[in-house]
Amino acid sequence: MRRSGQSALETSVLVLNRLFVVVHIIPARRAFGLLYKDLAEVIDVEDGGFASYDFDGWIELSQLRRLEKKPDDDWIRTVRCEVQVPRVIRLLTYDRVPKDGVKFNRRNILARDHFRCQYCGKQFSAHQLTLDHVVPRSRGGRTTWENVVTACVHCNLRKGDRTPSEAGMKLLKPPRRPDRNPVLQLKLRNVKYQSWRMFLPSTGNGDGRD
Ligand SMILES: [Zn+2]
Repeated sequence: MRRSGQSALETSVLVLNRLFVVVHIIPARRAFGLLYKDLAEVIDVEDGGFASYDFDGWIELSQLRRLEKKPDDDWIRTVRCEVQVPRVIRLLTYDRVPKDGVKFNRRNILARDHFRCQYCGKQFSAHQLTLDHVVPRSRGGRTTWENVVTACVHCNLRKGDRTPSEAGMKLLKPPRRPDRNPVLQLKLRNVKYQSWRMFLPSTGNGDGRD
């Protein structure tokens, strides 16, 4: 499936700091903003190596590649020309390293659970999903990785203010704190983002399982 325009701007870009350490993931829209302001450069992975380009250089390269687009690449069309969406950028002035540990937030919980309702097992898009306290807060259930799961609206309503066993519902798997960034792990399942692997620590390989 070919993406273009709006959705290409929503694809993900891996951000490295000046020292090539992974900092975070941002939408291509923001990556283009950083490139345009010369705050970042494109890191392009090809044939097991990589090269860096400033924004002008990247636009030039895009004009050559435009003639033989690869199926997994994304493109945006500007007023003047078409530009390939980068997959990795490097911040030119930023040295800091992110803190260890995965942030507990909605985005990471949905990614940990693969956007799958943990009760009925169906996959949904983010806006159709809710977060459910397995042991309800009214029963002293905590807001932690181990007690919050992704649930579709239907299952969440059906469960209500009950524990799973009271509601006769079963969790797909016991919820746990992820040891690696779940958003990143989920993206790595997509062929588009394979070039990211070059910049990730090669310890373990916790992705690829459902
Ligand atoms: Zn459900």
